[in-house]
Amino acid sequence: MKEDPTLPADARFETRAIHVGQDYRSETGAVIPPIYMTSTFETGNPTGFDYTRSGNPNFRNLQCTLASLENAKHCTVFASGLSAISAILFSLKAGDVILSEQQIYGCTYRIFEKVLRRFGVTIKYANLANSSNYGLIAQLKPALVWLESPTNPLLKILDIKALSAAAHSVGSIVAVDNTFASSLLQQPLDLGADLSLLSTTKYTNGHSDSLGGAVCTNSDEWQEKMIFAQKAIGLQPSPFDAWLISRGAKTEAVRMERHCSNALELAKRLEERKARKGRKSVRSVNYPFLTSHPQYKLAKKQMKAGGGMLLADFGLSYGDTLAFIRRLRLFTQAESLGGIESLVAHPASMTHASIPKETREAAGVTDGLVRFSVGIEHVEDLWEDIDRALAKK
Ligand SMILES: *Cc1c(COP(=O)(O)O)cnc(C)c1O
Repeated sequence: MKEDPTLPADARFETRAIHVGQDYRSETGAVIPPIYMTSTFETGNPTGFDYTRSGNPNFRNLQCTLASLENAKHCTVFASGLSAISAILFSLKAGDVILSEQQIYGCTYRIFEKVLRRFGVTIKYANLANSSNYGLIAQLKPALVWLESPTNPLLKILDIKALSAAAHSVGSIVAVDNTFASSLLQQPLDLGADLSLLSTTKYTNGHSDSLGGAVCTNSDEWQEKMIFAQKAIGLQPSPFDAWLISRGAKTEAVRMERHCSNALELAKRLEERKARKGRKSVRSVNYPFLTSHPQYKLAKKQMKAGGGMLLADFGLSYGDTLAFIRRLRLFTQAESLGGIESLVAHPASMTHASIPKETREAAGVTDGLVRFSVGIEHVEDLWEDIDRALAKK
């Protein structure tokens, strides 16, 4: 992959995000790379591009940037996070076993159950935050160990280093969905994982205006599989989306810092409120960098900051929780996360609506649970919004 030869070898995340993956400047002088809206390339051209399904200059720019940010040798970009997941899953074959963390992103669960099973792949689930379940890895010898940390939506933290070591001792491949953490806060490959997956729709792009996915790896063999999947299964993004995500990645560090500081501040204030009880009370708060988080120490070790996602349960009924959400003015109720604008979601009526109440409550998705994707607005405005909505104003 082509890197800027003028870039110091030890340049940091913030600098690499802006300077790595900016090809074609030497030929044209353009400070920002153009969008290559072309489906095909002249045969025999010196760049090696032939058809956009199997590669495009805008893909190469973004792949270069993301590989650098994840400390990876390789990166392949896809049309969405789910396309990136598909690329990994369709590298498996009938008879293979996946051992997955049980609390994973709903659409990952759906493709495991509704698609992959039909192709003869076995999927087993376990609580991989509990080290007494690590033994399952040696027992099942899975082709793939599927991790997500923090998990969506319940913010459970998994020990990527310990799980990777356990998986490698029996020759299993480890994939980590790094979407909730972001490339700035967590580098799964440095912790021992083989594949780090991003829905670049979220923090990488950061502006809720495009969809994308990426898989980063240090393995030449897996890189070949990813490039093959991009072209053979047709999982490629559009050049325009790749360009937008390249633009977004340049500000990932500053955005993430604000997402994290805002979320931590709101988490602390909600926790203070919980201690006080009474009107506008809070039943529980969940944020990886609160000392009350069950895996606080691991989160501190594994992540540079707590991220922009925050959970709270105000002890309200299903209907009252929805009414609270409707009273919020700055948090828009919507799926997705990781954009500059604050969003709010009610897992019980949105992502987990199809799951029976008892099953969902046992998993921690209570009627009163609210998921905040904390944006980069002024934290006092966000706090006032929550406070006012709780006061029923
Ligand atoms: C959103 C999300 C995905 C899927 O990404 P899309 O870009 O929506 O396809 C995968 N994993 C996690 C953890 C997500 O939050």
